Amino acid sequence: MPTVNEQRGPSSPIPIKRRHRHPVRNTLIVLLLLIIGSCIFLFGVNKWRIDFRLIGEPTVVSECGTPYQDEGAEAEVTGSILDFIHHPIPVTVSTESVNIHEPGKYTVTYTAKYLWMSATNTRTVEIVDTTPPVIELKHIDDYYTLPHHEYKEEGFTATDNHDGDISAKVESEERDGVVYYTVSDLAGNTATAEREIFYDDRNAPVFHFPTGEEGFIFKGETWKDDVLAEDDADGDVTKRIEKSGTVNTNKVGTYTVTYKVSDEWGNVAETSRYVTVKRKPYVPKKMDPDKVIYLTFDDGPGPYTEELLKILKKHKARATFFVTAAYTDYQDLIKAEYKAGHVVAVHTATHDYAQVYASPEAYWEDFNKMEDIIQKQTGCRTDLFRFPGGSSNTISANYCEGIMTKLAQEAESKGYTYIDWNVTSGDAGDTTDGNVMYENMMNGIHTYHNSFILCHDIKDYTVNMMDRFLTDAIKEGYTFMPITSETIECHHGINN
Ligand code: ZN
Repeated sequence: MPTVNEQRGPSSPIPIKRRHRHPVRNTLIVLLLLIIGSCIFLFGVNKWRIDFRLIGEPTVVSECGTPYQDEGAEAEVTGSILDFIHHPIPVTVSTESVNIHEPGKYTVTYTAKYLWMSATNTRTVEIVDTTPPVIELKHIDDYYTLPHHEYKEEGFTATDNHDGDISAKVESEERDGVVYYTVSDLAGNTATAEREIFYDDRNAPVFHFPTGEEGFIFKGETWKDDVLAEDDADGDVTKRIEKSGTVNTNKVGTYTVTYKVSDEWGNVAETSRYVTVKRKPYVPKKMDPDKVIYLTFDDGPGPYTEELLKILKKHKARATFFVTAAYTDYQDLIKAEYKAGHVVAVHTATHDYAQVYASPEAYWEDFNKMEDIIQKQTGCRTDLFRFPGGSSNTISANYCEGIMTKLAQEAESKGYTYIDWNVTSGDAGDTTDGNVMYENMMNGIHTYHNSFILCHDIKDYTVNMMDRFLTDAIKEGYTFMPITSETIECHHGINN
């Protein structure tokens, strides 16, 4: 049997009960599912990446030695599809490899990490050396170069930002009064510098007299002036010397010759010197060369000298007087000695050890005073002398160490000859007895072929015994000769 409902048929307005009772909720669910699906799809399809952006240029050039400051980089996470996402992430910069002191190409590395992702980027840093070295010239105060002379370097330094001290690589060249300096560093950068040479000449020429500052010739000999002049800048300027004063070689006497010379810079030198024309040497009529006596009398002239001259004259004996200025009243006896044919020579004016041996300068000052007196008395300067105390004295060391050595050298350069003795009469303090002196002298002359006898004409007992000695020595065939600079040398050894 049909149910009521069946019986009603289609036309029956019976309400139908629908199965979809919540349509909105379902739609929402579908949409949600759709969104979730899309998201899963997008996340699956989207490719995530880290994007870098370098600040500044990808290649940077930096000067050697200058601190390098990297400008850095930025990074962000983004996706290939979800490219609207820009998530900034921190960047680690590594500049350790950059050596700012060594030219070359270096790489700076940037690293960024995010979750499972990691990326790097780089920048090239080129360290270059385009800075030239620096040349510094040294300047010495008051420095000058002699004209015509090569410049002597005052000094310089060259430093380079990369190579350091490259002073040794500096090349210099002198041209027309200017010194040009150049130096290049390893990178080929070149530096130059210039120095103008300051020329000056502050010294006048200097005179030289190779055979001695004092000139001595015998009468009748030819006078050859040996003067030379040398200038520190110009060299030999002998040819420019102007001379004045003449030497009459036929007339005994002391002449003054003056010399003047200037260098190209205008410095003038002037000097003068004595040229002495000496008497011709005494030549005895006959003489045994093995029996020659050179009698020498020191420290006078004095009160007994006149008497001595008489005795010498009586025996026609020539002697040598080493004179002092100790007895002013008897100074004109120097002239008498000279006129009698004896040789007069210097023994210093004061004979005061402390004074004459104080210094070489003091010695020659005193010496020249005596020379002037001799010249005044005789008209001639002398080329002979005897040191107070002899050349072997050690007393001079009390006043000036080494002075005898110095004086002996200087005497030679001045043209002087010094004479010592090999026989002593004993009158310098050992004895006042004429008989003892006689024995000393006779023993002495029998010992040497050429005796240089030390006596003092300021001692009365010396003068008093001289007649006897002369008489006996002449009897034995001895000849009494004056000393000249040509006489054989009689030198003690120098001890100071
Ligand atoms: Zn003396």
